Amino acid sequence: MLEIDIARKIYPDRGGRSHVALQDLHLTAQPGEFVCLVGPSGCGKSTLLNLVVGLDADMDGRVTLEGRTPGKGIGVMFQEPRLMPWLSVLENVLLVTADPQRERERAIELLQAMELGDVLHAYPGRLSGGMQRRVALARAFVIEPALLLMDEPFVSLDAPTADRLRAMLVGLWQRRRSTVVFVTHDLREAIALADRVCFLSAAPGRVVLEVPVSLPRPRAPNDAAVLALRERLLAQHPDLLAGLTTQEPEIDA
Ligand code: ADP
Ligand code: MG
Repeated sequence: MLEIDIARKIYPDRGGRSHVALQDLHLTAQPGEFVCLVGPSGCGKSTLLNLVVGLDADMDGRVTLEGRTPGKGIGVMFQEPRLMPWLSVLENVLLVTADPQRERERAIELLQAMELGDVLHAYPGRLSGGMQRRVALARAFVIEPALLLMDEPFVSLDAPTADRLRAMLVGLWQRRRSTVVFVTHDLREAIALADRVCFLSAAPGRVVLEVPVSLPRPRAPNDAAVLALRERLLAQHPDLLAGLTTQEPEIDA
C-alpha cells in the first residue's frame, strides 16, 4: 500500500515570503489501484508527486510504499516526454533498466506492443508528439514498476491521440497491476481512468473529496456515463474544480 502523510510542505522564502504548498495531506492507494488526483493549477500536485518520487525530500511528513521509503521501483511520466534527444527510442527505454543487455528483448516487445516497432532506432526529434509520449509510457513501464506516477502526461495532444494513449495506459496497467497515481486537471479524464478520484483543495493542497468510480471499463472521457458522473459531481459540489469543496462525504459512483 502507498501511504502519503504530509503535515506540511513549505517552499522557503524567495525574496520575502515562504509558500505553504501542502498541508495535512493524507492519501493512500491500495496495490494495483488507479488513483487520479484532480485540483486547480498551483495547488501542489506536481509538488506532491516530486515528494513521492523522492526528487524532493524536504517536507514535514512521510511517504511509504509497503511500509518502506519508496525505492527504485517507481515509474514516472511527466507532462513533457523528457526523452534524451541523442539516444534512439530503444536506448531511451533501456536507459532506465538495471541491465540493458538482459532487458533488451523485453523492451523491444513492449515497444512493438505500443506500435513503435518501426522506430526502435529513430531519434525522438523525428517522432510526433503522440509517439514521443508512447516512448515515455514504455519507459515508465519497462521496469514493471510497483508504483507509477503520472503528472498530466497527455496534455496538449489532440483528442484521438490522447484517447489512444489512455487506452494503452489502461491496457498496460491491467496487465501489470501497478499502483498508479495520475494527476490531471481534466475531470472527464480522471473519471475515465480512475478507480478513485481524489480532489485537492486550492493551496495549500490537501484531499477534500474522494470519489470511488465503479463504471465498467473500457471508458473514454466522452462516454455518456463519464459525462453524467461529472455533471452529478459538479452539481453536488459546484466549486469542486476550483478546489473549494469543504465537505468530505463519500459518494458512490
Ligand atoms: P500544480 O502542479 O498543482 O499546478 P505545483 O506543485 O507545481 O502546482 O506548485 C504549487 C505551488 O508551489 C505554486 O504556487 C508554485 O509556484 C510553488 N512552487 C513550486 N515549485 C516551487 C519551487 N521549487 N520553489 C518555490 N515555489 C515553488
Ligand atoms: Mg503541475
